[in-house]
Amino acid sequence: MPDPLSPNLRYLSSSATVAISTEAKRRKAAGEDVIDLGAGEPDFATPGPVCQAGIEAINAGKTGYPPNAGVAELRRAIATNLSELSDGRPVDPDRIVVSTGSKQALFNTCFALFGPKDKVLIPSPAWVSYPQIVHLARAEPVPVMGDEEWGLKVGVSDLDAQADGLARGLILCSPCNPTGAVYTRPELEAIAGWAHERKIWVISDEIYRRIHFGPGSAPSFLDLPDELLERVVIITGASKAYAMTGWRIGAVLAPPHLTAAIAALQSHTTTGANHPAQWAAIAAFSDERVEQEVGTMVEAFRARRDLLTQRFRTSAPGVEYVEPHGAFYFFFRVDGLGAGAPPTGTEFCTRLLEEAGVALVPGEAFGDDRWVRLSYAASEKDLERALDRMFAFLHTFESPSHV
Ligand code: PMP
Ligand code: GLU
Repeated sequence: MPDPLSPNLRYLSSSATVAISTEAKRRKAAGEDVIDLGAGEPDFATPGPVCQAGIEAINAGKTGYPPNAGVAELRRAIATNLSELSDGRPVDPDRIVVSTGSKQALFNTCFALFGPKDKVLIPSPAWVSYPQIVHLARAEPVPVMGDEEWGLKVGVSDLDAQADGLARGLILCSPCNPTGAVYTRPELEAIAGWAHERKIWVISDEIYRRIHFGPGSAPSFLDLPDELLERVVIITGASKAYAMTGWRIGAVLAPPHLTAAIAALQSHTTTGANHPAQWAAIAAFSDERVEQEVGTMVEAFRARRDLLTQRFRTSAPGVEYVEPHGAFYFFFRVDGLGAGAPPTGTEFCTRLLEEAGVALVPGEAFGDDRWVRLSYAASEKDLERALDRMFAFLHTFESPSHV
């Protein structure tokens, strides 16, 4: 028997979303005809000006340790970008810390804010890493189930029902992974007011903010009045909007004392994010040509969203799904399939991969195994092929009960 590992890892399991895309890639490499709609990773190449800026940074010798909290020019570029997205609201670059992906920004924030006995509310279904990150801080994640009549979003009464005196935080994701739902500005304002009154920290994961199918970017906590933002932290990053998942650049915008703590924490863990990647990210957040590419990518995601909803309506009219308004995920229910015992999300995905060669993520990864997540960060051709296979597979479930 190996020695036991630290209690820090008591709840640790590896990421199901990462595991599924690894398995799909493995099968593809082995020659299997697998279409991967599991990974939450844009299928576009990183925009040219971003790559060019990265190459130039390397050639210019920007390869030593970076400033721990991030290159000043990048912190300024992110601040300017956030400010422009929120109608010119001032954003102080000194309150930004750049990190190794927004995943690390989330980890740093939770580790700096929460500890034993604290509870952190997580509107669910939720991205797989939130509860894990809260556990790593030795705090307790508390899922707050979203309303099925309302795109699986939560409201103040749902949060209030789960918040006792130990609730110190809330992690909200809009546009949401795994559902694609988007909170409106009044919905955010109601939640911000509730959290402010109860002195609960809001960690707003806005990594998908740019991928929004309504006008402009998705509503943000940064659109709300100052007095509601005392305990609000914004998480942003380059991975999704700029197709930069492998560059590993994310950031947090937080009040000054938290920013300082996060920077100090990071000084002992990573010494800052990859230095040349930070210079590349400056182009992402500020170059007009990249901005145009973001518009093109968002249009492509919107067209795929339309294709998906239209095909579900015509080919599987009874299957319930959340209407996506942002991000690139489509979340649908499988517990109504079949006349007998309906499949769980896990059973559905396992069979779909084995029998039809399509990889999706079971809802279990997000806290509700009645559902399945499809990522449409894939070409329209692959999407069409995957849907043909999936609808044929769906029809193998005899006389559906409520589909
Ligand atoms: N938040 C959400 C909701 C995500 O889906 C992801 C996906 N990886 C992340 C954060 C982390 O992204 P990254 O570390 O690549 O910035
Ligand atoms: N966030 C993406 C997803 O949900 C990428 C994988 C991960 O980091 O979880 O699929």
